[in-house]
Amino acid sequence: MKKIITITLFVLLTVSKAYSSNFFIEIPKQKTFANFDNNKNNYDRFLANEEPRNIDVLSYDLEIDWVEILPSTKDEPEKRKWNGKIKITLTPLENNLTYIELDAVKLKINAIKINDFPLAEIPTNENGILKIPLEEPINTSDTVSLIIEYLYDNPENRGFSHRNTPYASNFPPETERPSAGTLSQTNDSRYWFPCNDRPSDKAIFTVKATVPYGMTAVSNGILDSTVINYVDDERYSESFFWRSIEPMPPYLFTVAASEYTLHKEKIKLNSTSNDSVEVYYYFWEEDWEGDNDSFNVKRALQPTEKTMIIFSDLFGDYAFSNYKIAVVEYSHLGFGSVGMEHQTLSTVSRRWFRTFFPVPEFPGFAHELAHHWFGNLVTCHTWKDVWIQEGAASWMQSIYAERIGDTLDKNKYYEQQLAHRASYLNHISQNPIVFETPIYGLDDETGIFSFSSLAYGKASWIFHQLKEWSREWFSVDDEGFFSLVRELLDRHRFGTITSEQFVDFWVDYYPSWSKYTMRRFLEQWIYSAGHPQYEIFSNSKMNDDEKYDVTVTLEQVQNAPNVPDVFVMFLEMLFYKNDSIVHTIRVPNSLKSHTYNFVLDFDIDSVSLDIRKALFEIVGNNHTSIKEDFYTVRKIYPNPLINATEFFIELENEPLKSIEIIDVLGRNINEGFEIIKQTNNFLATVRINSLKNGFYFVKLNNKYYEKLMIINGK
Ligand SMILES: [Zn+2]
Repeated sequence: MKKIITITLFVLLTVSKAYSSNFFIEIPKQKTFANFDNNKNNYDRFLANEEPRNIDVLSYDLEIDWVEILPSTKDEPEKRKWNGKIKITLTPLENNLTYIELDAVKLKINAIKINDFPLAEIPTNENGILKIPLEEPINTSDTVSLIIEYLYDNPENRGFSHRNTPYASNFPPETERPSAGTLSQTNDSRYWFPCNDRPSDKAIFTVKATVPYGMTAVSNGILDSTVINYVDDERYSESFFWRSIEPMPPYLFTVAASEYTLHKEKIKLNSTSNDSVEVYYYFWEEDWEGDNDSFNVKRALQPTEKTMIIFSDLFGDYAFSNYKIAVVEYSHLGFGSVGMEHQTLSTVSRRWFRTFFPVPEFPGFAHELAHHWFGNLVTCHTWKDVWIQEGAASWMQSIYAERIGDTLDKNKYYEQQLAHRASYLNHISQNPIVFETPIYGLDDETGIFSFSSLAYGKASWIFHQLKEWSREWFSVDDEGFFSLVRELLDRHRFGTITSEQFVDFWVDYYPSWSKYTMRRFLEQWIYSAGHPQYEIFSNSKMNDDEKYDVTVTLEQVQNAPNVPDVFVMFLEMLFYKNDSIVHTIRVPNSLKSHTYNFVLDFDIDSVSLDIRKALFEIVGNNHTSIKEDFYTVRKIYPNPLINATEFFIELENEPLKSIEIIDVLGRNINEGFEIIKQTNNFLATVRINSLKNGFYFVKLNNKYYEKLMIINGK
């Protein structure tokens, strides 16, 4: 689902590829991950308080009557209600079950039958739970049918959008036409039909939706038939019988109705066969082909076929009986822009057809179609796992952007990923809690949508980094990577997936990466929060071979609750000269302070890291070029210093204004000095009491002179 869209365009760096040899890439086992081993348990506080139920619903057969409410307006509060009747067929998951529990919020339950026997006393559902007692205990071998008649009469209008709402909307209506539609993600199915409202419980649905004659009701799956009914002397109604072929959880089930115009097409399924998919677009007639700044369904949906082919080619053929898109007026629910991936029927706000969402750059329709692989074919087992499908669908927007044009455009892919990165970082700057919150465990609409930059933006980088690093480090090209994603989808096809299963898949089936490294990598992004924040310290100095010794130290300085002290990272280091990238080198990064030494044929001005390849921030960058242009020093002695607390610099006649001692991180750690004028020269005495073993540079009058080595046992 996508409730708010932000598109940011970026000017991208042009990178000249000049890889040096690979580094050793195995990450050693170490103790630097101390603060995330326990995070999975810490984040149980985010979990939904909804335990899995002891029932498995097999099918829902719903009848709804929207004849009176559909044409009604705010001036007719007495018509702000409708009747529903649902048959639920289920089987227990444990023996000796003495009651059946369902979700049903603010629905007025009028009658219940169990296996066709009416229940004499209707239980209350005041707390949103309908607990139906059974006369005889039932067992896992039993199948039970419930028929529940109910009245939808909910002043909150939750789960059901219609203009006859008692609440003012935050957004102006998009149309004067009558429109009704349901919107259930995450936990709002229970507001419009009794159900086992869990993403893990998939079932088959049918619906008989009755609307005023002249209007169309649309739902998931295929339309079996329609029947015209007599209402009274002046009115007829029409019933639409829809049947979903493939199982789905309640939140993916929807019914929408309006004065629709229908456009049908057959589009190609994939690029390698003649198979096709039937697509149906339900829209308002005046929107078919509007002017530039108006609604234009034809233009907005023109990329559907190519999007279908792109995703089917990469992730396996579209698995459902057909594909439909319907416009629904959602402004009455207080949403300005909605797209929702109801199974086989994406419903969208009218504004999605405006050309100010440029086509094909607007990735919203691609996002909803992408959910038919991640989200619908394979569904999050609980809402705390929703990052898998929102992250995947957001990542698939980038693949769409890369491939929807005439030629494959890698920059468009990175633009989308950088837009996801920007949404995540911007959100952190507005609300620092985002930095401390893992993507795992955002358990309801409050978490998923208020932290959408995590479940969408940040989570997309899990897929992106897996793909980038597979290609750059493990010689698994994009095609190889996509085949692994297909394998993951196949394993959970028409079922659900947990975060644990996601991690286990990559740990067990990834061909090239060590299991330890893969688990560390995934768990740091899923169960821990934040991202690496780097300070870069670099220096370069010409060596005796007239090449340049370059030392780069990457310090991971992130410091916040739930954020690992050290992330396992694979980075691309960029070397700049005159504002151009003159060299790139891939480096693994797995230490809090990680120093790399290179020899380059040329001098450089600065060092950076490629933000397109991994998720991190650079919070400080300091480069020093060491020049060989200071000739007045006669000598520095002793060098190396062994167990000494001071050393001497003998100069000719230039007055010495400053002495700095620079460590490998570029910091000045001078502890003080004195200068004495001698007969033929100056002599500086420099104190070094607390310096640790290692190499330093002595910088005089703001110019480097000499490398100093200290060996003092510290
Ligand atoms: Zn989505």
